[in-house]
Amino acid sequence: MSRYLSSRFASLEEYVPGEQPQDLHYIKLNTNESPYPPAPGVVKAVTQNEIDRLRLYSDPDCRALREALAAQYGVSSANIICGNGSDEMLSFLFIAFCDAQTGVSYPDISYGFYSVFADINRIAAQEVPLRGDLSICADDYCGLDRTIVIANPNAPTGLCLSAADIERIVQSNPNNVVVIDEAYVDFGGESVAPLTKKYDNLLVVQTFSKSRSLAGGRLGYAIGSEGLIADLNKIRNSTNPYNVDSLTKAVGLASLEEQDYYDNNCKKIVATREYAAQELQKLGFEMPESKTNFLFARHPKLAGKQLYLDLKARGILVRHFDMPRILDYNRITIGTPEQMETLLKTLREMI
Ligand code: PMP
Repeated sequence: MSRYLSSRFASLEEYVPGEQPQDLHYIKLNTNESPYPPAPGVVKAVTQNEIDRLRLYSDPDCRALREALAAQYGVSSANIICGNGSDEMLSFLFIAFCDAQTGVSYPDISYGFYSVFADINRIAAQEVPLRGDLSICADDYCGLDRTIVIANPNAPTGLCLSAADIERIVQSNPNNVVVIDEAYVDFGGESVAPLTKKYDNLLVVQTFSKSRSLAGGRLGYAIGSEGLIADLNKIRNSTNPYNVDSLTKAVGLASLEEQDYYDNNCKKIVATREYAAQELQKLGFEMPESKTNFLFARHPKLAGKQLYLDLKARGILVRHFDMPRILDYNRITIGTPEQMETLLKTLREMI
């Protein structure tokens, strides 16, 4: 830290992303990326014409992509905003819908960026404890009178709330925005995107990073009432109106035309997850039921951090969180069947 940093940020705890080693020597099961490449047709979107157009600013309204997404969800493009990853959507919505008066509530164990966005914007945050089994109790979020942010399925636990539970939360907080972060919904969760047509206080955030194999493209979006989307656009236009680059727009648009390919990948990932969960259980691991592309596992005889380090020494990266309630766990992204076999073989040898 230099002496020039504003004192506002002196105690800010930054978000620490999962390791991204550039040498590709690891089996990388630590940041919930897809093990499968973007659809074959997506490469055709990167044309000479698109490269030539890089001299121009990208469309600040992100029209084509928003229209395609709107058609997919049966909403109007005024109900969609696109961002530089869903992280940017989350950043915008913490700025737009929370302040010193309107605090924010989210689960105490969830996506680590929520507390950073609260902190950097000086928002009073209430972290609602998960139950003993790591599940979210929907009742805890009813009638809170604060902005609510819930990842569903939750990360890193992988557990889901039902759409009915979320509807109850939305109904009981009519004067506040309820944000459902559906980064992992395509691996077995139930999206509440259709409910955005019924409730003007519900905002659903999604990403192309996981099920659509575009983590490096940085593309996310939010679906909500025209009013909520206009509010988010106000923040976007006041910070970075060209927030999605034109190549990413083209690639994102092309991937929407290859839905079958991505649906099939999700099926493969779910099948690999179920197999890996079974095999890990045979080795003594315990884990909540995952509806995501990762497993959150602990072993009664192995310390979580040591297991992470031992796997890393053997060329396999998983994610360990240094947080009191989950010290024993590691989050293991579902890779290809071959990668998971290597993980299982390595664990068998270690145990
Ligand atoms: N929400 C959750 C729950 C996540 O785990 C992640 C990925 N780390 C994100 C949002 C952000 O994803 P992206 O910015 O790549 O869209």
